[in-house]
Amino acid sequence: MAAMLCLFNTESREKERVFPIDGKKIRLYTCGPTIYNFAHIGNFRTYVFEDLLRRSILYFGMPVEQAMNLTDVDDKTIRGAIAAGVSLKEFTEPYKIAFFEDLQTLHIERAEHYPAATDYISEMIRLIQRLLDLGYAYAGADGCIYFAIGKFPKYGRLSHLNFDELKLNASGDNRSDEYDKDNASDFVLWKALDKERDGEIFWESPFGLGRPGWHIECSAMAMKILGESIDIHCGGVDNMFPHHENEIAQSECCSGKRFVKHWLHAEHLLVDHKKMSKSLGNFYTLRDLLQKGYSGAEVRYLLLSTHYRTQLNFTFAGLDAARSSLRRIGDLMARLQEIELQGNATILPVLEDAELQFKQALGDDLNISVALSVMFDLVRELNTRCDEKTLTVADKDGALFLFGVWNRILGCLPLESEEVVPEHLQILLHRRDEARKVKNWKASDEIRDEIFSAGYSIEDTPKGARLKKK
Ligand code: AMP
Ligand code: ZN
Repeated sequence: MAAMLCLFNTESREKERVFPIDGKKIRLYTCGPTIYNFAHIGNFRTYVFEDLLRRSILYFGMPVEQAMNLTDVDDKTIRGAIAAGVSLKEFTEPYKIAFFEDLQTLHIERAEHYPAATDYISEMIRLIQRLLDLGYAYAGADGCIYFAIGKFPKYGRLSHLNFDELKLNASGDNRSDEYDKDNASDFVLWKALDKERDGEIFWESPFGLGRPGWHIECSAMAMKILGESIDIHCGGVDNMFPHHENEIAQSECCSGKRFVKHWLHAEHLLVDHKKMSKSLGNFYTLRDLLQKGYSGAEVRYLLLSTHYRTQLNFTFAGLDAARSSLRRIGDLMARLQEIELQGNATILPVLEDAELQFKQALGDDLNISVALSVMFDLVRELNTRCDEKTLTVADKDGALFLFGVWNRILGCLPLESEEVVPEHLQILLHRRDEARKVKNWKASDEIRDEIFSAGYSIEDTPKGARLKKK
């Protein structure tokens, strides 16, 4: 049976087959980071899952157009900029750069679009105006514009919460961007300027000076870039309510169309069985783990090797186990390069079977545990055949090819026997490239010296600069 891709839809609570609404490509929107600090590996669990999803869609033969937003204006970014005494852009830019460096370290493929919220303010104003014109929004006594959830009877469709039990319009501050899981309330679309809170950070609009609320940012960017009806929208489970519920309400009231066909939510990364989060202070950034000597590939493997709808408790023992799993693959690759190939009983049907089983597992709501066990069964089989010296040249080529195919999805297998350059030096190399692009020779020379003193030289090749051990 040919494998097809079926994914659990949070809204229907069923596995549904994935195919493009427009018959051409999957339009995928993934809620991105708020760039007010370094992302932690809990955030990256969600982004690694989304990368696995993206690569799987491609593996099943469907082109993808993905947008991931960068939230560069909200309560947290404004608070940070004011505390640091710099402009919003000056405050967020280093975190934006760090985010892209981290994506690279984790071998996360680039999306087609990374819209920043501050580039879409006029689009947000347009949507808010439309919601006002259609009677879904109103101006509050405080000068802010609110969405009236009572006007959208489908509110709650995604998260299946029992709204009778929630405190409707409770006294909580519904102007805040922070999540409030206990209240279902009218939520803010436009925040009137509060000089004390926002300083000089505001925009002009028909509703007065101010700035957009956080939820409208995603509706505006998703619809502007990908269209009013998109195939798949994802985020972590904490995004489901109220953020995604609010996105549906705003978008569908504006367009009159179904906003998203398929919703996917990744479960949390935990530490000591509590959600890893900035506010609890129980987080590690990717940089913390690189400092401790782990590689991006090892962190990636750890984050993707548990099914996305299962919580994952982070431990260093887990990270060490990820390291040894990858080493088993690396050892086999080295062995296949060296082994004498003189057998005559071919293993090719085993490879074909493994490929199909792996694909069927992924097609079953990205069942990574089954996919990885298929891969490690094959590792065991190949090691046995190496011991028995029964492999043929075609077996070796077939096996290497298959691991190459799997790596297009897993993105972290040590297939090359090339030396592994430490990730923090890769980041330095990237920074040197950036410095050279803007002709900042002083910075580029300083970075080169730092790389040299770590024992590496820089080789300029037609494919760009790379590092070589001295
Ligand atoms: P935030 O910057 O808090 O809006 O989070 C960015 C993304 O990371 C969202 O999709 C969140 O759902 C996700 N996220 C935050 N904390 C965790 C966690 N501990 N585990 C998995 N995903 C998370
Ligand atoms: Zn969002």
